[in-house]
Amino acid sequence: MNSFNYELDQRLVALREQNLFRELRRVDSPQGVRIEFGGKSFLNFSSNDYLGLANHPALKEASINAVKGFGVGAGASRLISGSIAPFHQLEEALAAFKKTDAALTFSTGYAAALGTITALLGRDDIIILDKLVHASIVDAAKLSGAKLRIFDHNDLNDLERILKWANEKSTTRQSHVLVVTESIFSMDGECAPLREIVALKEKYGAWLMVDEAHATGILGWNGRGLSDELGVSQQIEVKMGTLGKAIGASGGFICGSRPLVDYLVNRARSFIFSTAPAPAAAAAALAGIQLIQTNEGENLRARLQQRVAELKSALHAPRSANESAIIPLILGDEAGAVAAATKLREQNIFVPAIRYPTVARGSARLRITLTAAHTVDDISELVWALKPIPGYKSGIAK
Ligand SMILES: *Cc1c(COP(=O)(O)O)cnc(C)c1O
Repeated sequence: MNSFNYELDQRLVALREQNLFRELRRVDSPQGVRIEFGGKSFLNFSSNDYLGLANHPALKEASINAVKGFGVGAGASRLISGSIAPFHQLEEALAAFKKTDAALTFSTGYAAALGTITALLGRDDIIILDKLVHASIVDAAKLSGAKLRIFDHNDLNDLERILKWANEKSTTRQSHVLVVTESIFSMDGECAPLREIVALKEKYGAWLMVDEAHATGILGWNGRGLSDELGVSQQIEVKMGTLGKAIGASGGFICGSRPLVDYLVNRARSFIFSTAPAPAAAAAALAGIQLIQTNEGENLRARLQQRVAELKSALHAPRSANESAIIPLILGDEAGAVAAATKLREQNIFVPAIRYPTVARGSARLRITLTAAHTVDDISELVWALKPIPGYKSGIAK
């Protein structure tokens, strides 16, 4: 083995020793309530396809029609080879959906966070993040060069303390302060106190960006998100979401004012220096955005909420006013979480073990996600299989 491969091999050995080694599992079926891998079928509680749209006939048909009309590849960045119609149709639909003047789509949510935050902030600015925000936001904050401060998860006092400090600092220079949080936290499933955060950012004159990746399509009227449900949507400068979760397709988006979107087209490097996504992805996302605003979408949300209620009741987990579809069973120990996931797989149930660096060390967990496509019997089967897991009784934290 040459020294390059030897070095990497040593690093991999270290990951294995800490129970942090990860590997890809080849799946031979579409996303759905049942997925196939290793020649077996598993009941799937791992997907963010919350409404079961990833394999929905309407999205598939829209995607196939886009291939027929626009081909497969976009050719270049949208600023270089022309911006293909399906992206514009999707952005108009997103702006109408989120009730904003404009929207811009990116190839992924990760690219949306990276491009937007680095465009808005530079060295003279300050960015304030909730401790549990997604890696895409943390990476963007670091890359922006802005001064980075973290407030304790959902802790308004800590946020205010940092906003005060930032205000004192920024009176001396021309600098901006951006607060970023999620509306539903991806690994914990709980909501941010958005009304209170909006009040604080207004009080201190900061900007606010809210990542609604896990609330879009799920919460609020027609699935507009938590900020809509709480009536603060209009006070959020930068609204982010993804198209690959409840919307069932792929991509990321920013909704906001016309100047914001025009500015991002000029300055968001992950948008400018990247080939546009396949037109078929935009067409599928448009069909997804349309579907979640119909009666069918409403029925799917109602079914999802019913399944969440059933599982939470069986697990004696606390209920919340705005319920997400993410239910973590926090086991703590990395090895314990991996063993629990393995035990479930032996019973043909797939629940991912989430470990560092996705969550903090020592807070490893089974992250259960429910979808509208699950049945009452699927939930019972899961609850039955969870019972023998060590830590099951004390594990549910949220
Ligand atoms: C998934 C996710 C992203 C990234 O979106 P992708 O489209 O998967 O790149 C960003 N933020 C949060 C909170 C997410 O859960």
